[in-house]
Amino acid sequence: MQDAPLTVGNPIEARCTKCRKNTDHIIITLEEEAPLKVECGVCKRQHKYRPPTRAKKTAVRQATLLKDAERKEWSQLRPGMNTAKATDYSMAAAYKVNALINHPVFGLGLVQRVIGSQKIEVLFEDGRKVMRCK
Ligand SMILES: [Zn+2]
Repeated sequence: MQDAPLTVGNPIEARCTKCRKNTDHIIITLEEEAPLKVECGVCKRQHKYRPPTRAKKTAVRQATLLKDAERKEWSQLRPGMNTAKATDYSMAAAYKVNALINHPVFGLGLVQRVIGSQKIEVLFEDGRKVMRCK
């Protein structure tokens, strides 16, 4: 999708992992006409080319608001959860609404919805996630 062929020494927009944003880079090496190594114009660090991210700010803000709402919902529901009844999460198990699960990564979770077959919507401390089940 480039107007001109990519050339070593030419500027290119790329994602810089050190600056944690899209910055102007200079192409250092090419491989089969694709940028391989680039130098960040801001921090001068040379690294593997990563395409610039195109995250929309509004989408990020909406996701943040949603997360906040889910965390609030969690803190309201948490006192009513009987952790003694929580079972270890397993993809091979079947779940009902209001079941409590222990997930190895996300921790305690409350099953809020059974979505069709083999999927449940679970509220965790860190927000709502869709998990597989039997
Ligand atoms: Zn940088």
